[in-house]
Amino acid sequence: MKIKPNSLYVSSPVNALVQGILREDKTLNQILGHGNFGLGTFNDLDGEMIILDGNFYQIRSDGTVSIAPLEGSSPYACVTEFEADSKIELKGPFGYMDLQKCIDGLLLSKNLMYAIKIVGNFSFVRARSVPKQDSYKPLIEVAADQKEFNFHEISGVLAGFWTPDFLHSISVPGYHLHFLSTDKTHGGHLLDCTIHDMTIELQAIDQFVLDLPHSIEYLSANLDIDVSNDLKKAEH
Ligand SMILES: [Zn+2]
Repeated sequence: MKIKPNSLYVSSPVNALVQGILREDKTLNQILGHGNFGLGTFNDLDGEMIILDGNFYQIRSDGTVSIAPLEGSSPYACVTEFEADSKIELKGPFGYMDLQKCIDGLLLSKNLMYAIKIVGNFSFVRARSVPKQDSYKPLIEVAADQKEFNFHEISGVLAGFWTPDFLHSISVPGYHLHFLSTDKTHGGHLLDCTIHDMTIELQAIDQFVLDLPHSIEYLSANLDIDVSNDLKKAEH
């Protein structure tokens, strides 16, 4: 099978974030050097990040959306140069579970990663953002304070990745999608949705570049812990 070589850049293994390393000095400008599409979060978990066409949108827990300055920093971001290798239009409507099943059927193999972009109309979206932290806290405790938003009759885009379970210490396993409304005023980490009249674009990823941070917190952390259960609770 012919797969176009394509690489994903991960700025730090996700298990560092899960363990509460919420601050790294990787600038958005450095991340942009590796891709124009993706997701992540900001230093001190100051909102959810969605990267579209090279713009870093910052969705804070008060619900505001702004374009983040490239001098800002992130403890965790995944980006790729997005160029879909398949595109499909579907009518729906699908709930989030049905949407996942539908995309499952489009994946070439569950042993690759995929960048996913879905543009559509949503009768319902439930998304969240996390509040800015001023001290160390494991992600699961931060997620307990998350702010949830419900949007109705809204058009927008879902952007993110599908990652196989066996890579769970590096990238969030399964579907990890962030939402941004067409008018770029609403968004968040996707928790649930009902979507109709959508275009799904997929890009298989067969290699990745993983940066390992140099901060004291990172270098002295014990990362030999299976955080997959905490990750499931915090991210899904
Ligand atoms: Zn997320």
